[in-house]
Amino acid sequence: METYFFYFLENMALIIAMMYLGLKAREYVVPTIANSRKAPLLNGFLMGVLAFVIMYNPLIHEGMRVDLREAPLYFIAFVGGWLPGIVALIIPAIYRVMMEGPTVLQGISQGILLPVLIGSLFHDWKNYRPPYALVSIKRMMLGFMVFEVIKSVWMAWSTPATASMAIIMALMGAIGVLAMGWILNDTHRNIIRWKALEHDSTHDALTGLPNLRFFHEQVRELKYRGVPMAIVMMDVDHFKNYNDTHGHPAGDCVLRSIGRLMEEIARPEDVIARYGGEEFILCFTGVSTEQQAFELADGLRERIENYEFYGADKQPGGRLTVSLGAAISATEQPLDVLIEQADRALYQSKKSGRNKVSVASIKTGAELKTRQQVNA
Ligand code: GH3
Ligand code: MG
Ligand code: MG
Repeated sequence: METYFFYFLENMALIIAMMYLGLKAREYVVPTIANSRKAPLLNGFLMGVLAFVIMYNPLIHEGMRVDLREAPLYFIAFVGGWLPGIVALIIPAIYRVMMEGPTVLQGISQGILLPVLIGSLFHDWKNYRPPYALVSIKRMMLGFMVFEVIKSVWMAWSTPATASMAIIMALMGAIGVLAMGWILNDTHRNIIRWKALEHDSTHDALTGLPNLRFFHEQVRELKYRGVPMAIVMMDVDHFKNYNDTHGHPAGDCVLRSIGRLMEEIARPEDVIARYGGEEFILCFTGVSTEQQAFELADGLRERIENYEFYGADKQPGGRLTVSLGAAISATEQPLDVLIEQADRALYQSKKSGRNKVSVASIKTGAELKTRQQVNA
């Protein structure tokens, strides 16, 4: 009895340690794999290796090789379904055949096939599981209990296993599976929280657009790589009037819609952000002439002017519009200087009637060469 206990305790410790190390390795060394299509195969393979390690130094009871191989096999099938389950059972099954003995068939069917079968039966097939989903501990333990009952009855009937051995095995196996579920959930919960924090610290809560901090980071990186760019500042025209007429919540809706329009026109390398209030900032990449900067900014201006915002007819001119100012990074100016130039160009657009684009002159930056799209 005591021998069984300490032997299974050793198995259980191995399961917990390997599970912890495996998840840490995935978190820090290969985080991209968790999101890839190969993840189920790799997870299955690793659990197969774990089952093999557990089986490597067995407790032999009347020719029977006793160990907790079923814990990782049940667990992976429960979490991932039949695909990783089948991948996981390959190595242990081959190893068990090679080890021979009087109970090869029972060892494979009761300790390898059955846990994978019951695990995948209890797997949550109905709901899509994102890579960092949490497992339902209750459902997992219920499935494991069902497995243990079937296995114990089957073992008592077909092998020389004793009742005390079966009970300790079931108990230790259950603790092993429970620990695996807890470790998985803890790790996933940390990753989910960390991702949410990272998203919140780089995105604006109202529009969902990246925030200014994120913008600075991304654009500095682009500047460092020498990517030619235009910085564009944009401010909603007469927005106070819109808020006063339709209320703040309707104003918030407008800001969200503008964010979506910006996302629509931005190309993959471009960076966009909410600057603050009803001001936005864009970095158009691959832009080296005033004409290009003007055309891109004017495309956005036109898109917003033609968009059917709720209550836009009550705005001056009967439309909800924006004014924009652009500056091109032709020389070595730091980002702050570019933003300042774009801001001055924006002021020029406002001063000369709104719903316009102004581009700061490349040569001096200070003198504004204004190209304006005037709308009737
Ligand atoms: P213009 O820019 O054309 O000179 O006129 P404006 O009325 O838009 O003037 P300004 O840019 O100074 O107005 C800013 C307004 O934007 C005032 C403020 O109530 C509104 N605003 C700023 N942030 C938000 C926000 O998060 N939600 C809403 N609904 N309104 C906001
Ligand atoms: Mg403003
Ligand atoms: Mg404004």
